[in-house]
Amino acid sequence: MEKTLKNIYVCFPGGKHKVVTMSYDDGREEDRRLLEIFNRYGIRGTFNLNGMLERTNEIPKEEYPTLYADHEVAAHTALHPTIARCPDEQILQQVLEDRRILEELMGYPVRGLAYPNGSVNERITKMLPYTGIRYGRTVVSTHSFNMPEDYMRWNPTMHHNDPEALTLAKSFTELFKTQYLYMMYIWGHSYEFTDRDNWDVMEELCKILGGREDTWYATNIEIYDYMEEASRLQVSVDGSFAYNPSARDIDIEIDKEHFCCKAGVITRF
Ligand SMILES: [Zn+2]
Repeated sequence: MEKTLKNIYVCFPGGKHKVVTMSYDDGREEDRRLLEIFNRYGIRGTFNLNGMLERTNEIPKEEYPTLYADHEVAAHTALHPTIARCPDEQILQQVLEDRRILEELMGYPVRGLAYPNGSVNERITKMLPYTGIRYGRTVVSTHSFNMPEDYMRWNPTMHHNDPEALTLAKSFTELFKTQYLYMMYIWGHSYEFTDRDNWDVMEELCKILGGREDTWYATNIEIYDYMEEASRLQVSVDGSFAYNPSARDIDIEIDKEHFCCKAGVITRF
C-alpha cells in the first residue's frame, strides 16, 4: 500500500523554525540608538507608542514614519493609564484614539498593543478585540522559547535586564530540534539603557541573536499574521497539494523537505 501519511509542519518564512522579535515601549529619544543597533544586526521589532503624550525626551511624532520604518508601530494607549483601573468606555477610547493617531502618522492599520504599566485582566482581554487589537503584550517573562498560547496575553521570553538574558540568548541560538517552532521575545524601554548605562547588554544580545541563517527576524504583528494565515492553509488529506487562501506565502515542510505555498494558489508537492 502506498504510504500517504506524512509529517507536515508549518515553518516560518524561508522554511525557518526560529523567530526573534523585540518590543520596546514609550517612544523616548533613546529609541534612536536602539534602532541603530537593531538595524545594524538585522533585528526587527515593535515600538509601542502613546499618541497623545508629549513628554520630555520623546521622539517627535512627525518622525515616527521615517524612524520606525522597517519595524512595527503598535498601540500603548493614548495617555498611558493603568487600564485595569479605568471604566470600560475609557479603555476603549484610550485604545481607539491611540490607534487613530498612530494610523494617521504611519498609514497602516495599527493592530497590536503593549499593556501600559503591564495592566491587563480578563475584562480587558475580552474587550480589546472589539477595538481591532489582535495581540496584547504583557510584562510577564516566561524564560521560554515557546510560541504564545494566547495572543491577547503574549508573554515575552524576558526583559533585557533579566540576569539570565545572555544565557538565554545563547541557549536560543543552540536550539537545533526542528520539530518545534521557537521564539525569542525581548521587551523593555530604551531609556533603561541610559538609566543603567548598559547599552552593551543590547549590543551583546543583538550580536548573539542577529544574522543567523536559521532565524526569522520579525515584528510582533508579522508573527501574529503569519501564524494566523498559516492556520488557514488548506492541505489535502493525502498531503499532495495545498491551497493557500491568504495574500502571503506560507512555508511548510513535508517529511523534512521544505515547500513554499504561494499566496492565493494551489501548490502541488
Ligand atoms: Zn509604557
